[in-house]
Amino acid sequence: RGLLRGQLGLSLGPPRCYGSAPPELREQTLVLVKPDAVQRRLVGDVIRRFERRGFKLVAMKLLQADRGLLDKHYQQLRQKPFYPALLSYMTSGPLVAMVWEGYNVVRSTRAMVGDTNSAQAAAGTIRGDFSMHVSRNVVHASDSVETALREIGFWFQRDELVAWESSDRDYTYG
Ligand code: ADP
Repeated sequence: RGLLRGQLGLSLGPPRCYGSAPPELREQTLVLVKPDAVQRRLVGDVIRRFERRGFKLVAMKLLQADRGLLDKHYQQLRQKPFYPALLSYMTSGPLVAMVWEGYNVVRSTRAMVGDTNSAQAAAGTIRGDFSMHVSRNVVHASDSVETALREIGFWFQRDELVAWESSDRDYTYG
């Protein structure tokens, strides 16, 4: 790599080892591409948005969620009248669970996802562009850094998160 950089006249310094990024660039969030989006072949569109923004994918899997996992994930909502319908929606088919990393990723991702109620979600957001109704709203994204930490723990084992250093960091963050 060093040789190639020399030949190309690049002066980006030596390759970085993982862990060299400052902590504020290592914030993580959980994103779920929900079963409606998998059925509607929207997985690629959702991933593309986070990639293009500059966030780094550190974990991803397709799985069929079960009730136990969803009860933990949605523990705040278990008393809501729509909870049975939410469970049946979320277990209706496979979903894609992902962990994205980067500066302010929790807040930025929530902004990119848009309002919970799709009818009120701004155009340009994932829900505003792909969803018609709150009960089929395409994606989940953690709502705070603390929630993200907890949710990532529900959906992923520690060794499923891949530590890697992105080579475009200087161009993404300046
Ligand atoms: P968000 O997903 O935007 O963080 P909430 O945590 O309030 O929103 O709700 C979790 C999920 O529960 C929503 O994304 C949606 O799938 C479902 N949900 C919320 N409110 C309703 C509702 N009134 N009717 C049906 N489903 C709902």
